[in-house]
This record gives sequence, structure tokens and C-alpha cells, in this order.
Amino acid sequence: MSIADRLVRPDLKGLPPVDLAGAPVPGTVRLDANENPFEPLAGGKTINRYPEPQPAALRRRMADLYGVDDARLWVSRGSDDAIDLLCRAFLRPGEDRILVIEPTFSAYAQFARIQGARVDSIRMDAAYRFDADAVIEAAKDGIAPKLLFVCTPNNPTGSPVDPADVRKIAAALPDTLVIADEAYGEFADTPSLAGETGTIENLVVLRTLSKAYGLAGARIGCAIAGPDINGWMARVSPPYPLPGPSIDAAMKSLAPERMPVHRQRVEQLLADRQRLAALLRDADEVQALYEGGNFIFIEVDDPADLAKRLAAAAVKVRFRPKAAPGGVRITIGTPAENRAMLAVFGISESEKPRRRAAITRDTKETQIAIEVDLDAPEPKRVIDTGIGFFDHMLDQVASHGGFALTLSCTGDTHIDPHHTIEDVALALGSALDQALGDRAGIGRFGFALPMDETRAEVLVDLSGRPYAKFDGDFASDKLGDYPTEMTPHIFRSLADSMRAAIHVTVDGENDHHKVEASFKAFGRALRQGLATGGGGGIPSTKGML
Ligand SMILES: *Cc1c(COP(=O)(O)O)cnc(C)c1O
Repeated sequence: MSIADRLVRPDLKGLPPVDLAGAPVPGTVRLDANENPFEPLAGGKTINRYPEPQPAALRRRMADLYGVDDARLWVSRGSDDAIDLLCRAFLRPGEDRILVIEPTFSAYAQFARIQGARVDSIRMDAAYRFDADAVIEAAKDGIAPKLLFVCTPNNPTGSPVDPADVRKIAAALPDTLVIADEAYGEFADTPSLAGETGTIENLVVLRTLSKAYGLAGARIGCAIAGPDINGWMARVSPPYPLPGPSIDAAMKSLAPERMPVHRQRVEQLLADRQRLAALLRDADEVQALYEGGNFIFIEVDDPADLAKRLAAAAVKVRFRPKAAPGGVRITIGTPAENRAMLAVFGISESEKPRRRAAITRDTKETQIAIEVDLDAPEPKRVIDTGIGFFDHMLDQVASHGGFALTLSCTGDTHIDPHHTIEDVALALGSALDQALGDRAGIGRFGFALPMDETRAEVLVDLSGRPYAKFDGDFASDKLGDYPTEMTPHIFRSLADSMRAAIHVTVDGENDHHKVEASFKAFGRALRQGLATGGGGGIPSTKGML
């Protein structure tokens, strides 16, 4: 008998397995579910229909993301829902118990208690270290806990649990489901245990799109476990747990070409976490500091006083007065949010905030995600538009412009590169415009550049007023998959969305040189324009740009 069948609540054994048939075949006449046949008056085309109980495409995508077979993955309404389903399937009121390692995520105890089960806990030591032997000892003291939750990295203390410890616990406790909650896995170096659910029968791994993928509002997570365990979770789940718009949002966000942007954001949060941790560590009232995930955990002498000051500044953080008295969990936010939090500790950053912007732009023709960081200490470039030569040109702009650029676009390039090139230029211009903010300290510049026989001159005025002028022509229609006629068009799109005047003059023999020299010179002129060395004021007699 499988572990799931051994541990499941005996009173559920009569429930038949849930049929997880996928989406109905197109052309099916759907008169089976008492849906309303009309298009809803809410925009979404298909939300008059019930969603797939387990959305097949999203399930495959998430399985791919976590490196497991999709049969092992149960998509849940956030991983909270997966925790609840495990409690409902396996815990008998008044008889079963779970074990948690405090301080940890409060939902484990909460759902178990709602189910009427007993919650036993052991505490980590004063430095919040995880002790696998102590966990095993506590589990063996009394009836085997049905569920044992291991949060890694742990919320709220940030510490990851060594996968070897989880294996050891699972091996020592064959009558317990060991649940590794990897809600913050993307922020840690520790490898995921997801792949090991195939070999360790009593291991369940939880993942979520709420944290690293920024989809907390969509409520999408998953449990990765043997099919028998998932089968019992399915039986106690409501029939259509996942809202259609959430499924769509998750599919969009997890498109493979968006992954570089996700990775860039995780890196940014980690860098911010490190910087904020260093600042907070120096605050007198901070007695101890731990970091992990997208948060920092501090211990203070007088949490009540801190709470008062936070409330006065309208800054919310998380206190855990019972599980971790004196402990405060602080999420890494936007630069402005982080500054507001630091101010409560009397810290003002001497460093100027970096000028960054993130943009997504979705139309029927193109889906674009862009991040720019004008002040990145080591500007990185990850660019993928599907048009090789254009990627190369954008790389020139960012590299000579001296800014970090993560840019991905999925476009209808099978029809024509036109939409992709134009929309990317517009979106990049908007991102630069946004990052420039009030344009304090920026200037008006030009750059002339020779490239063998070619000479390109670009003048840029980041004036707030769009104007584009292009003087030059090309003998050939195409360079690889890039139409040369798009070149003036790109500068116009950039000028419009960046709100800048851009004048390009290019002259020479070789079209490749002429296009490349134009983008290089543009990048160079931009680098001077973006630089904030110029005294900090707004470079206009009008006082605004
Ligand atoms: C945030 C969090 C979750 C819940 O995630 P959802 O998918 O949004 O329900 C689960 N576990 C831990 C440890 C968390 O911090």
C-alpha cells in the first residue's frame, strides 16, 4: 500500500478518484455544467465557463519550471491551499498530530487546528539553527506525526535547511509526510528537493508563484508529490479551485522568454536585501539580524516602541509576538518603500537611489518585458527579441549607453519583424523615460563616431519634448532578418517614448557599418546624457524637462 493510502483519513477511503480530464475539445457543445453561454460583461472571453480543474498547459509549464513530471504536480490556489488540502486529506480531528519547527510559517498550525488535529512544535535554538536530530527525536516521542512541515528557506528567519537534513528526516520517519515548503526557493542557493519526490515516497515539496514571480494576487502554487498523495489532495479540493484569469496571468508571466526578467528581479531583490541588511545591522536597536528569501528578520529590544513608530510612518512589517517575541520580519520593497522603512530606524541612505524602471507591454502582436537600471554598478545585458541583428543593435545601445538592460520580446516575427522592432523601441524608450524620473542632473549631448569608411553623428537632447531627425540611406533592404528601413523608424519611436530630441546623421558605404555606427553613437550620446555628474540640477532655464 502506498504511503498516501496508509496515512489518509480512513473515513475518506470511499471517495472515488477525481477525473482530471483537461480542457474540452474545441467544437464540443458544452451543455453539461449549467454555465451561462454569453460572453461575460467583464472583458475576459472565457470566464463564463468553469476553468479546467487542473489547467493542463500551466501544469506542464510549472512541472517544467520545477524539473518534474507533470503527473507529480498538483496546481493549487496558492501553496496555502496545498497546505490546507494536505491537512484535510490526512488529519483526523482529535486523533492525529503535526509537527512544526518554530518560529515558522503560521499557516501549518492554523490549518491543522481548523482540521481538529493537534499541533506539536519544537523550537529552533537562539540562533535559529535547524537541528534534524532534535526534529526526529520530537517526532518519535509519541504517535508518528502525520505531517511534518519544514520551511526552507524558513519564514521568518530566512535560513535554508540543508536538503541532506530533509532526506535524513524523511528516512527516519516512514509514517510521516515530510513537507518541504520552498516558497522562497528562488532566492536561495540551496537546490530544490522537487526532483526527489520521485524517489522519497514520503516527501512533498510546495512551490508558489506568489513570491519570486510576483503573482500573490493570482493565488497559484503547487504541491509536488507522488500521484497517490496528489490523488487524495484532489479528492478533498473544491472542483474548480483556480480562477481562469489567474491561470492566464500565470501562463503569461511564466513564458520562457520572460524568465531573464524574473531572474533579474530576484537578483535585484537579493542585492537590495544585502544592502538594507548592512544598514539595519548598524542600528542601535537591532540586536540580531537574519536574512533570507525576499526579507530580513531582526530582533529588537522594544518591539512595542518600534511598532508605534512604524504605525506613525504608515509602514507595515510583520511581528510574531508569540512565535518570535522581539522578532520583526521586513519584506524588501521598492526603493521608495525601503527608504520609508529605513527612516523609521533613523537611517537615511547616503547613496542616491538607483534610477531603475520595469515595463511590460502586451498586445496581440508583441509581448515585451523590459528592465533598465541606469546606475547599475556592473551593468548586465540580457536581450532577446527573436531578431538577431536587432538584438546586436540594442546591445550596442545599452553597452555604449552604460546601462543595464534586460529585454525580452515574443512577437509575430513569423509574419514580419516590423511589429517587434517598433514595439520594442517604444517600450525601451518608455522604460528609459520612466527611469529618468524628474531628469535631475541629466544633459544634452552628442557623439560622432567613425567606423571604417562610415561616419555617424548622433545628437540627443533629453528635453522632455520628442523630435526625431534621420539623415542617411541604405542600399540593401535587409541585414540578416533586420529590415534597414526600420532604422529611422526606431529612432523616431525612441524619441517619442523617451521624450527626447534625437538627430542622426550617417554617411558611408557599408550598410552594416552605417546601422551599427548609428546605434553605437546613439548609445554614446545617451551615456553622456544619462550621466548625473552635472551638478544635480535640472538642465533647463525652465526648471523642468
Ligand atoms: C507566502 C508563503 C506561502 C504561501 O504562498 P501562497 O502560494 O501565496 O499561498 C507558503 N509558505 C510560506 C513559507 C510562505 O512564506
